Amino acid sequence: MGEFPSDLIEKLSRSEKEITVTIPLRMDDGTLRFFEGYRVQHCNWRGPYKGGIRFHPDADIDEVRALALWMTMKTAVSNIRMGGGKGGVVVDPKSLSEAELERLSRGFVQALWRDIGPQVDVPAPDVNTTPEIMSWMSDEYAKLSADQTGATFTGKPVGQGGSEGRGVATGLGGFYVFDAVRERAGLAEGSSVAVQGMGNVGGNAAEIFSAHGYKVVAMSDSKGGIYNENGLDSQAVEKYKQEHHSLEGFPGAKKISNDELLELPVDVLVPAALENQITAENAPRVSAKLILELANGPTTPEADEILHQRGIAVVPDILANAGGVIVSTFEWEQNLANEQWAEDKVLSKLKDTLVPQADLIWQKAAEKKVPLRVAAFIVALERLANAQAQEG
Ligand code: NAD
Repeated sequence: MGEFPSDLIEKLSRSEKEITVTIPLRMDDGTLRFFEGYRVQHCNWRGPYKGGIRFHPDADIDEVRALALWMTMKTAVSNIRMGGGKGGVVVDPKSLSEAELERLSRGFVQALWRDIGPQVDVPAPDVNTTPEIMSWMSDEYAKLSADQTGATFTGKPVGQGGSEGRGVATGLGGFYVFDAVRERAGLAEGSSVAVQGMGNVGGNAAEIFSAHGYKVVAMSDSKGGIYNENGLDSQAVEKYKQEHHSLEGFPGAKKISNDELLELPVDVLVPAALENQITAENAPRVSAKLILELANGPTTPEADEILHQRGIAVVPDILANAGGVIVSTFEWEQNLANEQWAEDKVLSKLKDTLVPQADLIWQKAAEKKVPLRVAAFIVALERLANAQAQEG
């Protein structure tokens, strides 16, 4: 990154604003408790701060700060007119009643509303925050600010200002990126795929790869996975999981651990669950030709280096999983214009946004002989440097 001015790097290593709030919450039993919440506004050179709010007992300002910087990089890589931010509340939402959760969500907005807004900071859901929580927050913001656009929070339910296509956006965006680089990565259509994680992202990704004729041979959840070298019916696996709350016993498939899944003899590995899954320890045994990072941070820096030496392409998270923030931005655009776009329009705009970035990053990596992740950082930093120059 030596080609970038040190003041740019110095600036991006800092947040523009970090807000810590105390949220008083009247519990159902009448007692009063206090919760700590954060909003980190990292960089707005390219547009309003954008990033999710997580509700988690281990949320802390350092984590939120790092994730806010990540959002600045992700929005720049995606070339959308947004900046980077992130939020968190230190709470285990499962310990609250529905009414307490609503009061906490509204309380966070009461504490923060002067610092957010459609042209200022546009939060979204993240770990443990749902479309319903976004609709409470959006409603509270409208009451306090008198802004009726509904464009301050994205990830709202469809019918309450949410966008069509948001549910599949991250998995489908990942597939569009994969499809754009597939040939150049030396992979045939219909290659074999292993997917770690069966949540919103992994579950959709498995179905999308299958629907496009790929052989999804392995899937997993937190308890472990299943493998069939001839391919799994991903819809049947989803249905089985819903009924049995586990993949164990899925007919015709072999039980495997999450560690084994990462080392299977497949063409494409899709980590779509957690961070730090591919490490220096297991990277020498990964046999996939390409890793599509749908989770945030699934590959450690040491593993990245090993995979690069071994000629395995790693499509980085800030490109591969940007579909979610891109469709969130479309939601914001629809709210500001008071429009509701059809799903086809949303998804074709998603493709038109991501494919040129995938092409550009692949070319940049080839030209500079660097891993795709480094090329993605270079593209993001070039755009941020331009935006900084315009800011003056
Ligand atoms: P989710 O909570 O819906 O699903 C997570 C899945 O991971 C579940 O199937 C869970 O069983 C599984 N899992 C948990 N621990 C595991 C383990 N040890 N091994 C294997 N699987 C395990 O979450 P999600 O929204 O699908 O997000 C998954 C990842 O994608 C996260 O890293 C998230 O930050 C990232 N991401 C999500 C979005 C989005 O739009 N939802 C956007 C960008 C990035």
